[in-house]
Amino acid sequence: MKIPFDNTYVKLPAQMYAAQRPTPVQLPALVAFNHSLAETLGISGDPDADIFAGNAIPEGASPIVQAYSGHQFGHWNPQLGDGRAVLLGEVVGKDRIRRDIQLKGSGQTPFSRRGDGRAWLGPVLREYLVSEAMHAMGVPTTRALAAVTTGEDVYREEVLPGAVLTRVAQSHIRVGTFQYFAARQDIQALQALTDHVIARHYPTATGPADLLDQVIARYAHLIAKWMGLGFIHGVMNTDNVSIAGETIDYGPCAFIDGFHPDQVFSAIDQQGRYAYSNQPGIGAWNMAQFATALIPLMPDQDAAIEQFTEAVNRFPDIYLNAWRDVFVAKLGVDNVDDDDTALIKDLLELMATDGADFTNVFAKLADISVRDQFLDRDAFDAWKTRWEVRKSPNAAQIMAAANPQIIPRNHQIEAVIHAGREGDFAPFHGMLSAITRPYAALTDTTEKYARAPTQNERVTRTFCGT
Ligand code: AMP
Ligand code: MG
Repeated sequence: MKIPFDNTYVKLPAQMYAAQRPTPVQLPALVAFNHSLAETLGISGDPDADIFAGNAIPEGASPIVQAYSGHQFGHWNPQLGDGRAVLLGEVVGKDRIRRDIQLKGSGQTPFSRRGDGRAWLGPVLREYLVSEAMHAMGVPTTRALAAVTTGEDVYREEVLPGAVLTRVAQSHIRVGTFQYFAARQDIQALQALTDHVIARHYPTATGPADLLDQVIARYAHLIAKWMGLGFIHGVMNTDNVSIAGETIDYGPCAFIDGFHPDQVFSAIDQQGRYAYSNQPGIGAWNMAQFATALIPLMPDQDAAIEQFTEAVNRFPDIYLNAWRDVFVAKLGVDNVDDDDTALIKDLLELMATDGADFTNVFAKLADISVRDQFLDRDAFDAWKTRWEVRKSPNAAQIMAAANPQIIPRNHQIEAVIHAGREGDFAPFHGMLSAITRPYAALTDTTEKYARAPTQNERVTRTFCGT
């Protein structure tokens, strides 16, 4: 296997990372390999489990771990960093986009703190499925290139099979990466990081202020897309906010089945900080942390504080416009007007009252059967009459492209993981093939993935990958 590495992060100041090789494992076995992504990346040859397990370092790689900090659930943690991941290097793909190739679950590093540096199979399969589904649904996201089992045990509350995920991202630079150097008053590294990010992700940005504006816009659009899919990230800590505007770190994330705006899945999110409806507000808060981290670069800091505050205060409007664009498409409306916001909100409210299935309501909105999703059918009929007036003549086409039939539902992910623990990966591959064609008409094979969970199947709690 040949990977055309072209590494640039290792040319940045030495305090930004540490050289670190992955720790070899006993018995690498390939579970999944993403051929089409490999093709985009210009990777040739047969997939090599030894490389994806960290047992062999491919030619051209310069393995490092990156330093970062972060606000975790609002609390400042000055020292995080890659504690269970190693960045092998970067490649410039056939689409001219530069991307990181990172092993996740590849052993201890100087940033591991008390952790073992490992991942178990469950979170690896979950991240593979959800990130590839997000990509298929047009959401900016990290990708999954490969998954391997290690033949080693991982010790959590129980003994679990170990695995390594190979993750691909436009970069792994986070809000927390900026915070790390800002907190240390390391202006040299902060400037080098900013220059690197502008050149790599925001080539039109004229400086930190413009970079902030552009990151805010990308992040607001990203969260609007999450909202349109009923996606709850679950750990929107600043160390899990990608500067490139991709969804990153699929830990306790989940898609809503029966809609409720206060839905929380993550077992550790006891206050509901990262609940579905809190995501845009937290997005603005995270951008305020990014703005704060850029201040030390500005010659006139008082003026910068004022300017950056205004930039962050624009987040809600940018988000609301993006949110409305996402939802009018879901309704097949193409000449958006001010009243459409109420049309969207009223439907969501009916869905919330009746716990209607988020994905299936939108997927079947034009279907007479959608009424069955609602307890108060008269209320739904009244809403539908208002909607009919607003619908575009092309509604069917617009809606088919905006409303997935299939999302990676939690109860099905759990079933896939359960089988994987027994060494049976057929359910994983079956589900992967369905969720990567989310807009295709359902078939006898894929119909089961569109079904909402029954009361007994419903998963209400998810856990971090650690
Ligand atoms: P996460 O919750 O996955 O975003 O991780 C937060 C921080 O904890 C990051 O610095 C991770 O590298 C670190 N971490 C998470 N799990 C482990 C682990 N099993 N071993 C070492 N570090 C970990
Ligand atoms: Mg993280």
